[in-house]
Amino acid sequence: MAVAGDTCLVLKLRIAIARMSHETNTFSTVQTRLADYDPCYDDAVVKVYGGTKTEVGGFIDVLRRVKGEIVPILAASATPSGPIIRRDFDGMVERIVDGVREGGPLDGILLSLHGAMVADGVAEAEGTLLQRIRRQVGASIPVICTLDLHAMVSALMVANVDAIFGFDTNPHIDQYERGVEAAEALVSTLEGRIHPVVALTKLPMMPPTINMRTTEGPMVKLFTEARKMEAMDNVINVSVFGGFPYADVERVGSSVVVVTDNDVALAERLSTELGGLCWRLRREFLKPLVPVKTAVERAVHAEEGPIILADVADNPGGGAPGDGTVILRALLEKGVTNVGFAGIKDPEAVQRAIETGVRGTLRMAIGGKTDTFHGDPVEVQGTVRTLTDGRFIHKAARAGLMADVGRTAVLDVNGVEIILTEKSHAPNDPEVFRRNGMEPQDKKILVLKSRGHFRAAYEPFAKAIIEVDAPGLTSPNLQLFEYTRVLRPLWPLDEV
Ligand SMILES: [Zn+2]
Repeated sequence: MAVAGDTCLVLKLRIAIARMSHETNTFSTVQTRLADYDPCYDDAVVKVYGGTKTEVGGFIDVLRRVKGEIVPILAASATPSGPIIRRDFDGMVERIVDGVREGGPLDGILLSLHGAMVADGVAEAEGTLLQRIRRQVGASIPVICTLDLHAMVSALMVANVDAIFGFDTNPHIDQYERGVEAAEALVSTLEGRIHPVVALTKLPMMPPTINMRTTEGPMVKLFTEARKMEAMDNVINVSVFGGFPYADVERVGSSVVVVTDNDVALAERLSTELGGLCWRLRREFLKPLVPVKTAVERAVHAEEGPIILADVADNPGGGAPGDGTVILRALLEKGVTNVGFAGIKDPEAVQRAIETGVRGTLRMAIGGKTDTFHGDPVEVQGTVRTLTDGRFIHKAARAGLMADVGRTAVLDVNGVEIILTEKSHAPNDPEVFRRNGMEPQDKKILVLKSRGHFRAAYEPFAKAIIEVDAPGLTSPNLQLFEYTRVLRPLWPLDEV
């Protein structure tokens, strides 16, 4: 019998951990496969995630601290894109459920999920996984998960977990802290110190993600209220989920989840109350964007750089391909120089750049090749500046974890230095510039294919950030999308 010192544990806890994370843009034409999730299995999970500032990194630290026995199963996460193909989704679920069965007897399970994942023919990806796990282990083994702030939380998910811990920040810089919190709650539950119960309030609103930051706007008010509630007796956790609108599934929409210590009525009352505030604030989630030409003019005439042009509608962090050309074309037509452009996903162009070699001249059409929503390919002629393997270590969010954007080339087209990558990539970490030979702080203009996660790392040195109204699969203008499966009425599609 193991005794774990200061934690008063009688038995050594045996806890399974797994991660399955994807934000699925169902409007994307890019199918997602298991390989895109870069999965790691068994002990490799601890090797890869141990010491990282991620949810799983948080799980591992807490479990090590209480001298728990970690049963690592699978960690898989993909850049947002279209639905995962069915066979690969089923395989991932089977692997986790098998791992839970074979790793038993377990005391508890910790999962790092996104909450906005969709598979082909399975609108409830996380709900399906959680239900399968619950059926496998029964009601007496606690299952606790973390979720992204953009999760589309469903009744099925809530019915199959003991507690949920959503990110409290956007950009998400508290992944590790939420992982720690979830793991500590699991330990407290197993020690019999708490008995978590969960209430969900789902709202008939699906705001665009453009104004969900937690440093300004309506989220500040909501999280301030959430913190007050968390200070109350018997309240374990209060999460506000803005939701993810680029999915045409029934479970879209914003929600509030409250976890209390064995007080269902309190959980329900608080989630209803905070849900009511979210509903009343809904119009504050809308935000006008700047037309492309105006944005370029403003950036050019700014006294000091870097000015960031955020291509919010072509955000690979939301499932867009990251090969949109509309802003690039406007910059080239205007003859703007000293621009760092991150980036254009174009494996064909990368290959050609490699064949051309550093200092060689490349002439070809780049970008706009994935679909018809992000502008046409642009004919360019430029000099290949650098070639890299596209791997770098994150220094901002997810610090310590390796990024892999595929082989990468920088093409300098008359002072517009374009980072060409093999994979879609939201350049939320400035390391992508540095790794490819550019100092982002020295550029007059930076174009970032990102909706908002870049702010954590770029805001400290950017002189201004302009959110540009270019076309794309993550445009905040939701009227551009054709929804057929969401439940109506739904604000802002309908004036409720
Ligand atoms: Zn998110």
